[in-house]
Amino acid sequence: MSPVALVTGGSRGIGRAIALGLAADGYDILLTYRTRADLAEAVAAEIRALGRTCRTAGFDVADPAACAAELEPALAATGPVSVLVNNAGATRDRLFALMSRSDWDGVVDTTLGGFFEMTSRVVRGMIGARAGRIVSISSVTGRSGRVGQVNYAAAKAGLAGATKSLARELGRYGITVNVVAPGIVRTDMLAPEVERAVIPAVPLGRAGTPDEVAEVVRFLVSPGARYVTGQVIGVDGGLE
Ligand code: NDP
Repeated sequence: MSPVALVTGGSRGIGRAIALGLAADGYDILLTYRTRADLAEAVAAEIRALGRTCRTAGFDVADPAACAAELEPALAATGPVSVLVNNAGATRDRLFALMSRSDWDGVVDTTLGGFFEMTSRVVRGMIGARAGRIVSISSVTGRSGRVGQVNYAAAKAGLAGATKSLARELGRYGITVNVVAPGIVRTDMLAPEVERAVIPAVPLGRAGTPDEVAEVVRFLVSPGARYVTGQVIGVDGGLE
């Protein structure tokens, strides 16, 4: 039986690249999405074409009841998860002076609530197995901040704190917990005007690709990264 990787937000962008990369590395995939079942199924078909199994589950990671209703049956069907990638994320950009509580909660609940909902459902299995890899996708914004992204920066920085603490709790079981912090990556999330504004500050002079983020995640879950835990790894062309 192949090991199972759970990848949230795998229907598009960076999550899609991670799911396909892990499938190429021999993982069966449990792929989650929020609304775009059509895109999730297309990724699942690509994964199956690689000879791996792929199950999809659609729910909002910020909604605990939906997580329970949709994820638990999917986990029961796939069996123990060896790798968790907390990738699902969203922005609600606004200057802080104009930011509503719902803009704040929407981003924090997706990022940190999602981290809790996903991680708490797989961590006991990993402890029992004395093995496991947890990688969460943060952002350069969580490290250096960005105008209009106080909510997003707070949530993404929170992922780093949660990861560092969890790495200390789980190290004794051989489980590693890390963060990957992309810079600007060409996906649906990246507005063209943001790309134009930020590129001059990127030492490598261009936006990253989803595959370039996925490569680092693949390394972090590989045997070669067994002594790497509690880290925030920038994949940002030198931006931060
Ligand atoms: P996309 O907008 O391209 O894709 C987001 C994915 O997350 C989709 O699969 C979407 O599902 C899913 N998703 C979003 N919100 C939720 C939710 N509440 N519940 C469940 N699933 C959800 O984003 P990217 O690929 O660009 O981003 C992936 C991660 O990388 C995010 O955490 C983002 O913050 C981070 N990041 C991205 C950067 C960039 O420049 N693109 C830079 C730095 C970090 P569906 O398709 O169904 O809507």
